[in-house]
Amino acid sequence: MRFDLLTIFPDIFKSYFNESIIKNALNNDKIIIKVHDIRKFSKDKHKKVDDVPYGGGPGMIMTPQPIYDCIQYVKKNNNGPVIYMSPAGDILSQNKAQRLYKTLNGAGGAIILCGRYEGIDQRIIDLCVDKQISIGKYVLTGGELPAMVLIDVLSRFIPGVLGTHDSIAEESFSKALKGKKEYPHYTRPVMFKSKKVPDVLQSGHHAKIKKWREDNLR
Ligand code: SAM
Repeated sequence: MRFDLLTIFPDIFKSYFNESIIKNALNNDKIIIKVHDIRKFSKDKHKKVDDVPYGGGPGMIMTPQPIYDCIQYVKKNNNGPVIYMSPAGDILSQNKAQRLYKTLNGAGGAIILCGRYEGIDQRIIDLCVDKQISIGKYVLTGGELPAMVLIDVLSRFIPGVLGTHDSIAEESFSKALKGKKEYPHYTRPVMFKSKKVPDVLQSGHHAKIKKWREDNLR
C-alpha cells in the first residue's frame, strides 16, 4: 500500500517512520511512504504557501496553488483517494479504519494532505479532496500527527506487518472481543509491589483462562 504525504514540514515524519513496526513494514515493502514538500510547488517567488483569509479573521490559510499542483504531481503515481486530515472530518475508529483499509487496498493506497495554520482554501476540498478524516474532537497544530496515526492504524491491517496476523483479530474493538476493550495483560514477575498475577493465568488451564479473559473484557 502506497501513502503519499503532502506537508510543509516533511522532516516531521522521519523519526516515527524510522522505528519499529512501520520501519519493518517499509523495509519489507509492505508499505511505501513518499513525503512531498508542498512548498516546493509554490509559484510564489518567495515560496509562500499561506495568505490572509478573505473576510478577515485570525491566522493564515494555506493557498490553493501549491497544494493543487502537488496533488496533480502525486496523482501520477498514486490512484488512491485524496484524504485531508481535518478536525471537521469523519472521526476515525477501529471499525472505520478497517473499512478504509479495504477501500485503500483496492485502490493501492492514498494521498494524505496535512493542513497547517487555520487550514486550507476550501476550493482544494471542493476540487481535490475525496475524504476528510479527524483523529478526534480536539484541534492540533497540523495534520502531520493525524496522518501518522492514520498510516499506523491502517498498516496494522496489512498481512505480514504485525508478527502474527492473529494479534489484530483479538485486539481491543475487534469483532472477536465483541467491540470491547482487551482483557488485562500480565508478564513476569508473578509478584510486583505486592500485586500478584491472577492464579488462573498461571494455571495452564486453557478453558479457565479463556473464561477469565472473556469475563475481564472492558
Ligand atoms: N481552523 C481549523 C478549525 O478550527 O477546524 C483548525 C486548523 S488546525 C490548527 C491546522 C491543521 O491541523 C488542519 O488543517 C488539519 O490538517 C490538522 N488537524 C488539527 N486537528 C486535527 C484533528 N483532530 N484531526 C485531523 N487533523 C487535524
